[in-house]
Amino acid sequence: MSRIDLHTHTTFSDGSFAPTDLIDLASQQGLDILAITDHDTTDGLFEAMEATKNLPLELIPGVELSAQFQNREVHILGYFINVTDSQFQLRLKTLRSTRIERIRHILDRLHTLGIDISLAEVEQTAGTGTIGRPHIAQVLIAKGHVTSMKEAFEGLLGSHGDAYVQRAVPEARDIIGWIIDAGGIPVLAHPYWEGLNKEDSIAACQTLAEQGLQGLEVFYGTFSARHISFNLGLARRFDLLMTGGSDFHGTLKPDIALGKGRGSLHVPPKVMERLRQAAGC
Ligand SMILES: [Zn+2]
Ligand SMILES: [Zn+2]
Repeated sequence: MSRIDLHTHTTFSDGSFAPTDLIDLASQQGLDILAITDHDTTDGLFEAMEATKNLPLELIPGVELSAQFQNREVHILGYFINVTDSQFQLRLKTLRSTRIERIRHILDRLHTLGIDISLAEVEQTAGTGTIGRPHIAQVLIAKGHVTSMKEAFEGLLGSHGDAYVQRAVPEARDIIGWIIDAGGIPVLAHPYWEGLNKEDSIAACQTLAEQGLQGLEVFYGTFSARHISFNLGLARRFDLLMTGGSDFHGTLKPDIALGKGRGSLHVPPKVMERLRQAAGC
């Protein structure tokens, strides 16, 4: 049976494994199909493609983009993106610049809370990767302000944290369009439907489908069987593709294992068949 993980991050965003190391790990663990879905960049895919040569591992080009939807931030995965599409690359560049803006605002908030961290320190931690809140968290840990990622997010950087700043991102409708323009398939990542009741989740999913969404990440690293079955129902109801992945970040999310999530993740092979059909591959 093939082993599939369609949601992973590398050092090109906020993962701790370089693309080559991630490919090595996937191969060691006997994965057959792996998608790399870094935030706001496809730059890690070139190294990954090179590393996959001569390995019995198929690499699916992917990306994960943040979007605004009904006053909350959602993440949209794009699969089988044409990474050489210059318009798409320009759009990614714009998205990356909004990240720096947000980091600046968060650092201002931290400053008012008596925590001094410079943008240079966060940039140094991010290295070549797309900069994000986990990099601020790493600096907070290194400087002894917090003891763990969890503490950094719960107290300061997460949506209920004291230094939280929402990022100005495009509407889901636009992000979905950008992915389609680049030949990709837009899929809603980790559909938690946070804060929504059953009826509102169904309505939200319907709106996204009407806006061009083509799939739901039904199988996710931390989802319970109940959660999976709810999303499965939504995918069937609105004729959406199903995808699945761990959202592996390496040491930045140590409880999530590649290909396994918290242990029970299983992405059925038929998911891949349908995704491929939709992409015309
Ligand atoms: Zn995400
Ligand atoms: Zn992710």
